Amino acid sequence: MALMTGEQYIESIKKMNMQIYMFGEKIESAVDNPILRPSLNSVKATYDLAQMPEYEDLMTATSSLTGEKINRFTHLHQSSDDLIKKVKMQRLLGQKTASCFQRCVGMDAFNAVYSTSYETDKKYGTKYFENFVKYMKYIQQSDLTVDGAMTDPKGDRSLPPSKQSDPDMYLRVVERREDGVVVRGAKAHQTGACNSHEVLVMPTIALSPDDKDYAISFSVPMDAEGIFMIIGRQSCDTRKSEGSDLDIGNCEYGGMEALIVFEDVFVPNDRLFLNGETEFAGMMVERFAGYHRQSYGGCKVGVGDVLIGAAALIADYNGAQKASHVKDKLIEMTHLNE
Ligand SMILES: Cc1cc2nc3c(=O)[nH]c(=O)nc-3n(C[C@H](O)[C@H](O)[C@H](O)COP(=O)(O)OP(=O)(O)OC[C@H]3O[C@@H](n4cnc5c(N)ncnc54)[C@H](O)[C@@H]3O)c2cc1C
Repeated sequence: MALMTGEQYIESIKKMNMQIYMFGEKIESAVDNPILRPSLNSVKATYDLAQMPEYEDLMTATSSLTGEKINRFTHLHQSSDDLIKKVKMQRLLGQKTASCFQRCVGMDAFNAVYSTSYETDKKYGTKYFENFVKYMKYIQQSDLTVDGAMTDPKGDRSLPPSKQSDPDMYLRVVERREDGVVVRGAKAHQTGACNSHEVLVMPTIALSPDDKDYAISFSVPMDAEGIFMIIGRQSCDTRKSEGSDLDIGNCEYGGMEALIVFEDVFVPNDRLFLNGETEFAGMMVERFAGYHRQSYGGCKVGVGDVLIGAAALIADYNGAQKASHVKDKLIEMTHLNE
């Protein structure tokens, strides 16, 4: 099954046993929660649109690893044409959901870790690239959503990870075992965390040799033992749980982000993509950031298209569509968006 339907995606998330907290309380089912459900619907749209013949060219790609048809959100870019299709797909989804559809961070992480693990292996004779290719085949064949986890809480920004008074300010290895490593720390503002099957962790800054335990990249399922999520607040969030259809904004679709706490999480050896090679941390961060900036050039513009349409409609409703300063603003929004 290389392509999941939207319904299959929802069912697959329902089956997971994630530890999610919101407003200080444990959430039993994020799937049925009125505050969180719109964000799940946005990710579902990435599956639904991939099933529609009119969007097949943008929403799907041919895997460079297996030759199979896959969702473009799990694709490793092969050409400039792929990068153009990526950004057009993001604009399309921004237009359809008018919100964050959450699957881009993982896609950008795939592409950064893929090339960086290759270069790390070339220098050190490690097996990270082999691990990552095996992992990517699993992600592509199962059509999974993956949270790209880069941002650490960071603490005192003037100090490197190993000099922080609280060592948990950056995610790190706390135990090295024959079969893998144990990690502790947190990743902040994780987009789509409770709507993701897996989390793909990367370092957040360039590192020096003293920061060896912080030079870690890996992936584990989102319901792995020791992972806890604390949902970040959104504007107007509780209005969605009041049972009214007034003043709730975009209640069909939405975004979500969470602080993910890793409390002594075990990572097996074959899920390690960087482990102590400090000089490759900066490369991974820069490659991720490059792909991610391009993503924002697509998704935010799609949301912008909806905002411009809404602004024009409001002007129509108010009979202000011919006012020159209103027209000026709509034109400026269009200009900035392009
Ligand atoms: C809605 C949302 C979704 C997000 N989704 C994700 C996600 O899915 N995955 C993920 O990994 N991250 C995610 N992020 C995190 C985002 O990438 C970070 O917020 C961003 O990288 C900035 O980091 P920070 O918040 O720690 O700010 P800081 O790094 O503290 O930056 C704050 C300010 O301080 C400045 N500053 C920081 N350090 C220094 C220094 N040493 N010297 C001088 N100036 C400094 C910065 O330039 C900036 O102006 C998300 C954020 C938001 C708001």
